[in-house]
Amino acid sequence: MLQVNNISFGYSKTSVLEDISFQLKSGENLAIIGGSGSGKSTLLKLIYGEYDLPHGEIFWKDTQILGPKHNLVIGYDFMKYVTQEFDLMPFITVEENIGKHLSRFYPEEKQKRTNELIKVVELKAFAKTKVKNLSGGQKQRVALAKALAKQPEILLLDEPFSHIDNFKKQSLRRSFFKYLKENNIACVVATHDKNDVLGFADTMLVLHQKKIITKNTPQQLYKNPKLPLVASFFGEFNVINGTIYYAHQLQIVKNSDLKGTVKACYFNGNSWLVEVEYNSVKVFIRHEKHIKKDEVVFIDLI
Ligand code: ADP
Ligand code: MG
Repeated sequence: MLQVNNISFGYSKTSVLEDISFQLKSGENLAIIGGSGSGKSTLLKLIYGEYDLPHGEIFWKDTQILGPKHNLVIGYDFMKYVTQEFDLMPFITVEENIGKHLSRFYPEEKQKRTNELIKVVELKAFAKTKVKNLSGGQKQRVALAKALAKQPEILLLDEPFSHIDNFKKQSLRRSFFKYLKENNIACVVATHDKNDVLGFADTMLVLHQKKIITKNTPQQLYKNPKLPLVASFFGEFNVINGTIYYAHQLQIVKNSDLKGTVKACYFNGNSWLVEVEYNSVKVFIRHEKHIKKDEVVFIDLI
């Protein structure tokens, strides 16, 4: 189990995180979400032991995670951290990068394991390609496979699919997170992409203004976001009379007490997002058809 107990941290006098506490069990997937600059990457670095903690403590099982003051080499064998910079060797191939830390004394085992991981990140066609010749997204996949090579107990992932194109993203997410579950590898995923979270995270933790403002399952937070910041993570939303409604919870009807004017209409794939001005506020509503600007419409709850 990962235990983060009352940690606070700042790079200088200004603090970035204050009194953060949470736990994560073996094999569980925890998503850390929050706006840019909210401290997601900093929190991962602290869990990894990259900095000394002025307050609080972090444990993985019985081992206390200590910073550079106490460790000559940062990091622990049971924990791997995939940064946004990838950290790969450009002049050797994909399979050499992944197998780099696997034992040379068992070449068959090494090859088998490398092949297995190449499959998890869907890079089979590039096994013999030098990393310098890969795209950003392909490099990111090599970094993910490399982190798995030595079977860590916990993985720290910073925006792990950010460079991967949309054609590949969803299938890679499924393959990767399934592998973690099957191998009981815990993970902490810092992200601002709801697709990294929905369907995969057991728990979601929201950072805002240095603190954890809420922590729950994605289902619970989606159903009851309570705060606009949480709702905004999931999609377009509106606050009407103090209550949060997603765009799909409203509809355009023939008649109602809520009358507004269409200001814009955005194509969204299987529906349109209609921007309506109602009582001088913007309201976003999902609708199956395009509606012209300046048309008068009536709004209702679904
Ligand atoms: P996030 O990953 O959520 O975007 P970060 O953890 O990277 O946020 O950053 C949190 C805050 O800490 C930001 O205000 C950022 O400018 C600051 N920060 C991050 N890294 C450093 C650093 N190495 N030195 C000084 N300030 C930093
Ligand atoms: Mg970051």
